[in-house]
Amino acid sequence: MNVPLLDLRAQYATLKDEVQAAVASVFESQRFVLGAQGAALEEEIAHYCGVGHAVGVASGTDALLLSLRALGVGAGDGVITVPFTFFATAGAVVNLGARPFFVDIEAAGYGMDSGRLAAFLSEECRYTPATRQVVHTASGLTIRAVLPVHLYGQCSDMDPIVEVARRYGLPVVEDACQAIGAVYRGRKAGALGEMGCFSFFPSKNLGGAGDGGMVVTDDPSLAERVRLLRGHGAHARYYHDIVGFNSRLDELQAAVLRVKLPHLDRWSEERRRNAEAYGEDFRAAGLLDLITPPEVLPDRSHIFHQYVIRAERRDELQAFLREEGIGTEVYYPVPLHEQECFRPLGYGAEDFPHSRAASRETLALPVYPELSGDQRRFIVERIARFYRGEA
Ligand SMILES: *Cc1c(COP(=O)(O)O)cnc(C)c1O
Repeated sequence: MNVPLLDLRAQYATLKDEVQAAVASVFESQRFVLGAQGAALEEEIAHYCGVGHAVGVASGTDALLLSLRALGVGAGDGVITVPFTFFATAGAVVNLGARPFFVDIEAAGYGMDSGRLAAFLSEECRYTPATRQVVHTASGLTIRAVLPVHLYGQCSDMDPIVEVARRYGLPVVEDACQAIGAVYRGRKAGALGEMGCFSFFPSKNLGGAGDGGMVVTDDPSLAERVRLLRGHGAHARYYHDIVGFNSRLDELQAAVLRVKLPHLDRWSEERRRNAEAYGEDFRAAGLLDLITPPEVLPDRSHIFHQYVIRAERRDELQAFLREEGIGTEVYYPVPLHEQECFRPLGYGAEDFPHSRAASRETLALPVYPELSGDQRRFIVERIARFYRGEA
């Protein structure tokens, strides 16, 4: 048996006619950028997330870039985020001329630790209430935003994060690129801070046929700002208020995504079912001393963009499963504070112990909606075989 980490062909087989009809209609219209499909998808995503506004952009990375820019982040500024995330979270900050400041994740759930956030702000920054300015004492940089990540499809503990940020007058931008449809205390990921960022990269839970992304917000002026920024800062063609970017979600992507969006909640439910079944299988196989299944934290609905276990002898297990035809992945083997390109930031490897431990122990297993019970049991059986020493 061969089980890939993700099998997009299985999903496409169920939607082929609808997707092809949607793509054909865009070709018939010959309108490829900023047309009816993109506008309709923006309304549908805003409604889905329970927010007032959504703005389509070219990728999840650009959603982060344009959100931060809309908030005024630029040269000489700092943004607080986590070191255990996909590179783009911090890359967007640096590409605006700003500096990422890392705070560690929580031991459980992989989200930003609000306690570490509060400690960073009170111990390493100076706050002037009159001007609502937060300055990082050692560097003199102005902290402009807090950027938590909802890693693997489960929300960070947002209420305390937002509460700490508000105390310092800082806006919160959610990197919800892995978490579309995840719920925290009755509200959707992306709707929990000032702005939320989504990615429609093909492997995400709601994936297009190429790159795509979206910014959601309840603030009409921030939405307008992102709209300006995605089209070279022009409010009307050739009239530029600010210097922006070229970052649009094209009509082909929007048309494909509109076919898929009505299925998203069912797919998330199937991912959750697979995750629960894994947990039962691992217990039945007596594996819970050797691997730890993902923890679903209180007040949250996890969408299992990834099903990530912590495993003894992780790298050996991964190599064994590869030999057995089972696709797995390490998200992410090197935390950002240990990346070569961030060496100038001056962090030590031991500065963020939870991120470091996660990078060494985590392994993502196949959890996509179409994964069959036979495939899942095969994976669990092979993991058991590995730990019985039959590898
Ligand atoms: C995928 C992802 C991004 C970037 O999205 P792209 O659409 O690939 O640019 C950013 N942050 C996280 C956490 C992601 O998983």
